Amino acid sequence: MGSQAPIVIVGAGQAGVQIAESLRQQGYDGGLLLVGEEPHPPYQRPPLSKKWLTEPGASQALSLRGPEALSRRRIELRLDTRVLAIDRAGSRLQLAGGEELRYGQLALATGARPRTLSLPGAQLEGVLALRTIGDSLRIGAAIRRCAAEQRPLVVIGGGFIGLEVAAGARKLGAEVTVLEGLPRLMSRVAAPIVSEAFERVHRAHGVNLVLGAQVAELVGHEGRVQAVRCADGREFPAGAVVVGIGVAADDALAAAAGLACERGIVVDECARSSDPAIVAAGDCSARRLADGRLLRLESVHNAVEQGQSAAAALMGHERPFRSTPWFWSDQYDVKLQMVGLSHGFDQVVTRGDLERPAFSAFYFRAGRLLAVDSLSRVQDHMKSKRLLDAGLSPTPAQAADANFDLQSVLQQARPATADGA
Ligand SMILES: Cc1cc2nc3c(=O)[nH]c(=O)nc-3n(C[C@H](O)[C@H](O)[C@H](O)COP(=O)(O)OP(=O)(O)OC[C@H]3O[C@@H](n4cnc5c(N)ncnc54)[C@H](O)[C@@H]3O)c2cc1C
Repeated sequence: MGSQAPIVIVGAGQAGVQIAESLRQQGYDGGLLLVGEEPHPPYQRPPLSKKWLTEPGASQALSLRGPEALSRRRIELRLDTRVLAIDRAGSRLQLAGGEELRYGQLALATGARPRTLSLPGAQLEGVLALRTIGDSLRIGAAIRRCAAEQRPLVVIGGGFIGLEVAAGARKLGAEVTVLEGLPRLMSRVAAPIVSEAFERVHRAHGVNLVLGAQVAELVGHEGRVQAVRCADGREFPAGAVVVGIGVAADDALAAAAGLACERGIVVDECARSSDPAIVAAGDCSARRLADGRLLRLESVHNAVEQGQSAAAALMGHERPFRSTPWFWSDQYDVKLQMVGLSHGFDQVVTRGDLERPAFSAFYFRAGRLLAVDSLSRVQDHMKSKRLLDAGLSPTPAQAADANFDLQSVLQQARPATADGA
């Protein structure tokens, strides 16, 4: 072994905790240190733009794993501690404040940071982004102020976070304008039929939704944001602005240490970086697929799945990324659940009620199921997930037929699998 130094995990978020716990589950008995720069014990981020935004409570309610639970598994937690640099040759980390830390093996789980606008006025007071507990509390307070002063909240970006904030702000009684640069909502991940359904839902809840809006400037008065101006001269008054234009992988530490990074720390299917002694998982990583493409996912499922692979890799085992990616978003009373990756689809069919909306969109390529987006159709989501995990596909006609039980595809496949194995 040669070294008694612990395995150190940088980043105490979803992926970091998963790596630590999976190491213990997989029988690792040595020293284990989880280092995070935030002051809070590991917590869940999804509620920050959902229920927590409108009904914040004690931060413990968001807890992913409390210090006691971690210490029971002999996982040492160091909070408020930023890692500044990795010395790979010396197997050391340099911490803010000057301290150095030796590691036996290293895992990076540094997450992502919200993208910022590089436009005039982007630094004005009242321009906010959402990643942390503190951000969510600030945005919640800003929404309440907007509602009380009858000033609109302007959300820049019609992706998941922007739209969830818009829904929360409507719930709290604020007037809301959403400015989206592209012609439809969530266009990076959803088919037009899903975008249009959410467009109707937000408009029905009174959101002023502006598509194709090219934001040019944030206008301020005495240092505080007052309005958002678009390139075509339109100006939207703002009591506060939430910028939700996506995140950038936090790969600076890895890049400075010479690890391969391409908009994320490049890892293989087993979460190994270009240095086989260092693994990376979660939002900070970009996974190299078998066909050479790089895939970046920002989701709880991805952090958990890659965290398990990373722990296995640290134990010297190969555990490739296994299950089908999935994601969810809550907006008003609509629950969106997405499973699979729709990239490259050539056909979409739907089942259910498009108007309510309570339907599922099935994405196919060459007649094979790639992904399913379900809006308030939990059963469709669960059955589709099982199908995709098993590599099975209904035909497009079966998927579109609400009377066809998706489960039957699995049931029909079972005897064949047993015989053919
Ligand atoms: C508002 C919001 C809503 C979301 N909603 C959903 C949802 O509905 N469904 C879903 O699947 N996903 C959702 N996500 C995404 C999901 O939360 C992330 O994909 C997940 O948290 C990624 O986990 P991670 O561990 O990779 O990164 P993080 O959770 O970001 O953790 C990384 C940690 O590393 C720390 N760190 C970074 N650099 C250093 C350093 N140098 N030294 C020490 N510590 C460092 C960071 O401070 C951070 O605490 C949401 C995210 C946000 C922000």
